[in-house]
Parts: sequence; C-alpha cells; structure tokens
Amino acid sequence: MVSQEYIVELASKLIRINSENPPGREFDAASFVADELAKIGMKTVIDKFEDSRANVVGVYGEENQHPSIMLNTHLDTVPAGDREKWSFPPFSGEVRENRICGRGAVDAKGVLASFLGALKELADKGWPIKGRVVLAAVADEEVEGKGTKKLVARGLRTDYAIVGEPTSLNVCIAHKGRVVVQVDFHGRSAHASKPSRGRNAIYYASKFVEKIQKMKFTEKHNLLGHPTCTITLIRGGVKDNIIPDNCTVTLDLRILPSMKLNQTLKKLKNLIEKDASKKDYHIRIVNYIPPAETSPSNALVKTALDTVTEVIGKKIGVRGFPATCDMSFLVNQARIPTIILGPGRIEDAHVVDESISVSELVKASQIYLRILEKILS
Ligand SMILES: [Zn+2]
Repeated sequence: MVSQEYIVELASKLIRINSENPPGREFDAASFVADELAKIGMKTVIDKFEDSRANVVGVYGEENQHPSIMLNTHLDTVPAGDREKWSFPPFSGEVRENRICGRGAVDAKGVLASFLGALKELADKGWPIKGRVVLAAVADEEVEGKGTKKLVARGLRTDYAIVGEPTSLNVCIAHKGRVVVQVDFHGRSAHASKPSRGRNAIYYASKFVEKIQKMKFTEKHNLLGHPTCTITLIRGGVKDNIIPDNCTVTLDLRILPSMKLNQTLKKLKNLIEKDASKKDYHIRIVNYIPPAETSPSNALVKTALDTVTEVIGKKIGVRGFPATCDMSFLVNQARIPTIILGPGRIEDAHVVDESISVSELVKASQIYLRILEKILS
C-alpha cells in the first residue's frame, strides 16, 4: 500500500514552495523533488534554464530498457491572486477536514505527491519491475509548456506516458487544440465630424464579431464534442473625435484532432472577406497548442481503465479532457501514446481556496502504482 502520511507530507511541502507562474520560478520545487527522487534511488537530473526555471527528471532503469513509462506533471501553479480573498493562507499547505489546502493542491502538486507516493512504494518493495520508469516534473505548463517541450526536444522518449492533471480519476485520452488568432482591421482615419471621409475599422471588426457569434461547426468528436470559437479581446480606436483606422480582435478557438489548422484559418478568412477586402485586414496565429488523441485500444488505456475500476470499485469508460495540457507535446512531438489521469476536479483548479481530498490523492497513488506494476511486469 502507498503511504498516506508520505503523500500528505510531500503535497504540503510542495505547496509551501511558491512556484507561481507568471513569473515562473520552479527551481526550488525542482530541487525539493530531486532530493526525494534521489532518496528512493532514482537517477536525477535538474535541468535549469532562464533565471530560476527548472525541470527535474528522475529515472529508474537503463536508457534502452523496455517497456518504459513516463509520469509527467508540472511544478508551476497559476498565481494565488488577491490573498485577502482566501480563507486560509494560499501557501500554508495545511490539512483541514481531510483536504490539503493551498495553491497547487489540485493543479498539480497533489498529483505530483501521488506520483512520488507510488514510486516510493516501488522503491520500498525493491523495484520489482522490468523496463524503465521516468518521473518528469516540469516547468511552465500553465503558460507555454516550455518545460515539456524542452524535455522532448532533448530526446526524452518512453513507450507510454501518463500526464497528471485533475480528471477526478477518469482516464482521458484526448483533448482539443487551442489556437489564439489575432485579426487586425485597417481603416482610414478622418475627422469624426465627417465620418464618410474615413473608413471605420471598428465597423469592419463588429461585422466580423457578429459572424463569429453565429458561427457553427458541423465537426464533432465522440469524447470532445464540437469545436468552439469565441472572441476574447477587442481593441480599437485612437481618440473620441477620430474615425478609427485600426481595430484588433482576438479569438480563442478550440479545434478537434480531426481538424486542420489551415482549413480553420481559411474558414475565418472567408467570413472576414464577406465584408472586407484582403487589404483591409491582417490575420495571424499568436499561439497554437495542437489537439491530441491516443487510441482507445492502446495497452496503457486498457490497463488504466481496468486499474481505476479495481481501485474505485466502479466501471469507467474513456473521457475527453476539457483543456489543453502537456499531452499535446508528448503525442505530437514525441509520438508517445499518452493518457491524462489524476485526482481532483478541474473545476477546483485555478480557484480561490484551492484544496484536494486526501483520500483521492491516496487512491490516485494506488492507481499509478498498480499501472506501473502491470505495464512494467
Ligand atoms: Zn495543470
């Protein structure tokens, strides 16, 4: 059995190490995790970058040993925000009514403690496994995913990966991609007393905004549902008595694994060009995290479903994950079949008074342990 005491202690200690991102300062948390990994006999490397950013990787087993599996989660948290709004100090890591409290409890320091609890139990049993297990606790998942991207670029590969994110112990095998698109509308400025002499960029933009609101997607994924497209920012105008010659609209698009980025952009261009000519606008992608999907028939998926069913005593099926995460880079860049599986509810992440149930952390750890034992047997 995994040790509840060990998991609670580690989760609390990790919460006490502030790793808010931005600004992103994971180095202290990485050092703490490296010490724990070394204590249980894993080969450990801290990969420091920028000022105080860092990934930490622990490995048990040799480079060419198979099967191999990576447990991947992140060291950074979203900022705590206004501390006055919290009913407990966000970096206390205290336990109240069997819940660990603080920024990162759900996303994702509790998950990291559950991963470590499973590895500690394997170590205590004398590592009764074949193959190789890798623990990757990464930087910057909450902003750009620099941490996992770096590990993948440096050639870290395994046969399988589990991304630790709050899924309420569900096995998620797909997530949508996220595209941030910026459209600059160009007009011609004029004195506001003579509007007809100018071309109002805000009018071009507002026609586009209306069309986006009515936009419908026919595509549908069995786990992820429909794509979405929404306006998240709009900026325009110069002064209250000038016809505006500029207006910028930013969109957040969530696309399915079956959709091509180019085709989606083309669809947007067609919408714009109903009211504006090519020279009236400029469109560009500000950020893109591709969608990801793992086959439901993959051995890891089947093993994970069986194991969760055994531990929680209820039969479950595969799900889609509502947000993007580092699975995108593991699947698209490293070609590693990946699932997302972790304790806690996504609704309880990124909120004031973040907390997670101790018993769910222990169940997650038990699930990770059994998956490792089965895959690496
Ligand atoms: Zn997360």
